[in-house]
Amino acid sequence: MARYIGPVCRLCRREGEKLYLKGERCFTPKCAIERRNYPPGQHGRELQFRRSRPSDYGLQLREKQKLRRIYGVLERQFRRYFEIAQRARGMTGALLLILLERRLDNVVYRLGFASSRAQARQLVRHGHFEVNGRKVDIPSYQVKPGDIIRVRESSREKEYFKALAERLEGHRPPPWLQLNPQDLSGQVLRLPVREEIDTRVQEHLIVEFYSR
Ligand code: SF4
Repeated sequence: MARYIGPVCRLCRREGEKLYLKGERCFTPKCAIERRNYPPGQHGRELQFRRSRPSDYGLQLREKQKLRRIYGVLERQFRRYFEIAQRARGMTGALLLILLERRLDNVVYRLGFASSRAQARQLVRHGHFEVNGRKVDIPSYQVKPGDIIRVRESSREKEYFKALAERLEGHRPPPWLQLNPQDLSGQVLRLPVREEIDTRVQEHLIVEFYSR
């Protein structure tokens, strides 16, 4: 599956806020938003002062782009998630977020096995995880209640995973996931509800964007 491979801090600067795409660096003064909070590009600084009030369409577009970038999903796949959410019963915006949360790379990130979704995606791609005892290397894999996500036996000897158990001790996953740091595993207790998803996005704007 294709993915964005350009400079990620640029995406935050475009949206004008932290999207936390780089793990620990996002919490340090090195964060590009802390140092240069204006749009990227040659005329970014000027644009900062010239920005007029965005149109409704502009607001909807930016919100959609923001959510897509937070989860690292390209347009086509994002649109597919939206269509699935739209066909299902319930609030489309909330269902869209739940579909994104159920991605295996997101769950690996939420469990604390990676410091960013991008790192989680790479770890999954490299085949370091199994779901219910079977290797899964597809970042978009949708987890379901009862699934057990575990670092594979063959990966545990790697320095990264040896150090992980200790780091996980203080990690608190969201309430719909259960973490077992000693076993380097986690379980999906149930699906999340909107209130448990801390992604700061106004999903109704995204629904409006696709409903135009
Ligand atoms: Fe965004 Fe993180 Fe880069 Fe800051 S360091 S601009 S939050 S990706």
